[in-house]
Amino acid sequence: MIVSNSPQYRHADYRHTKIIATIGPATQSDEGIARLINQGVDVFRLNMAHGSGEWAAELIARVRQVSDQVGRQVAIMMDVKGPEIRTGVVDSPIGLSVGGQLRFLMTPDAQVASMVPSVTVNYPDLARDVKVGATILIDSGLIRLKILSTDDESVLCEVLTPGVLSSRRHINLPGVTVNLPAVTDKDIADLKFGVEAGIDFVALSFVRSADDVQTLRGILKGMKSDARIIAKIEDQAGVRNMEEIIREADALMIARGDLGIEIDYFKLPLIQTELIAACKIEGKPVIIATHLLESMIESPMPTRAEVSDVSNAVREQADAVMLSGETTTGAYPFESVEVMKNIVKTIEPTVSRSLNSRLTLTEPKSKMLRSAAVLGQELGESGIIVFTRSGFLGYMLAALRPRGLPIYAFTDVKTTFNQLCLPWGVEPFLMDFSDDPEQTIANAIECLRKSNWVAPGSTLVVITNVLAHGKVIDAMQLRQVG
Ligand code: PEP
Repeated sequence: MIVSNSPQYRHADYRHTKIIATIGPATQSDEGIARLINQGVDVFRLNMAHGSGEWAAELIARVRQVSDQVGRQVAIMMDVKGPEIRTGVVDSPIGLSVGGQLRFLMTPDAQVASMVPSVTVNYPDLARDVKVGATILIDSGLIRLKILSTDDESVLCEVLTPGVLSSRRHINLPGVTVNLPAVTDKDIADLKFGVEAGIDFVALSFVRSADDVQTLRGILKGMKSDARIIAKIEDQAGVRNMEEIIREADALMIARGDLGIEIDYFKLPLIQTELIAACKIEGKPVIIATHLLESMIESPMPTRAEVSDVSNAVREQADAVMLSGETTTGAYPFESVEVMKNIVKTIEPTVSRSLNSRLTLTEPKSKMLRSAAVLGQELGESGIIVFTRSGFLGYMLAALRPRGLPIYAFTDVKTTFNQLCLPWGVEPFLMDFSDDPEQTIANAIECLRKSNWVAPGSTLVVITNVLAHGKVIDAMQLRQVG
């Protein structure tokens, strides 16, 4: 039995940079899901800030069903909300004008005799953790406030940028390391549904330290889930602790929506480059998220600046670029995916062919991967085949960034197969392994030939084991397609 991720895909459609689409009202019908899968989306993201566990479970089951019908598989990422600060419910929207005041109440029954409008907030330590004179931002920075005073039960602010405050709005506190649990009760409830339905990745919002990742790992272990963890970097603490977070996580998301509010916006490109470089050192996948094609929520064409932004992500060799509002509520979700693909496919051939020299490979077998990548690029054709149960060899080869060289990763584990949809340049295949390594290689090459990935006569680099007098030996081989 062989499941290819790409029966209608050919070498000509091959991309190194993966595409992640967030699913929402604009795309969550069976037709929408099928269209995104056929377009070549690699990972579907479910944003739990806007959905319930029941919604996710139903959607995951349908994505799997539609994938089987279409004949192409995708990975599923559940993006849990994490320690997000939100205002409470207001009876009616509060108009805030410049110079006016707003009071945040840390307990719903706080008694503040005042004419100043007030709203509750889900952060009991707000007054303790903020400083007078600091900034509070509401609704992605649309409303800006300055803190005037604090007391045991409330925080009084002056309005700097006006707006209308409705219920349950997201709050950013730039520079404050928020003292809320890394994984909330809602996250755990959502994860139960997600794990039961078979998620492949969990993205954790507002990761501030390696401990946050460890907490989630413990929870997933308790749920007997093999889902890989994607740490979302979206505040100053996450940036400060990037190295330890990257070491602990399985992958990183540069969540530029919140990050662009929590840090000086003009430093965002530098931080993005720094985070990508730090991921390359550790050999961990990195995702660029948010506002890549934001204008396409309303327009059939991207702005010129957006085209440059996506191109930059491809040039920086991010593993994946992510669509959010474009594919959840946008008017042009499928056009957005096409635009993304067109940019990726145009820019990739111009990217340097140099391998990732920052990556430290420790094991002899990983070191052999670098030689395999050099050899594959030298041959200039076909690609590299690896056989992997855990996914390790596929992830490592991807981290080396052998531009121009497809990485064919064969596994006999379904979760691994799905998880290989994320790393740069990996084309996963699910295939039973034979007891005879020679037969397994023959099956893999036959699979690639049949699905037009490789042409007869071309040469492949194969990373495999050989048996020599009863001993298993790691080997790198050249194989000609028959
Ligand atoms: C972001 O802030 O960029 C992001 C991806 O997170 P969310 O969409 O969950 O706010």
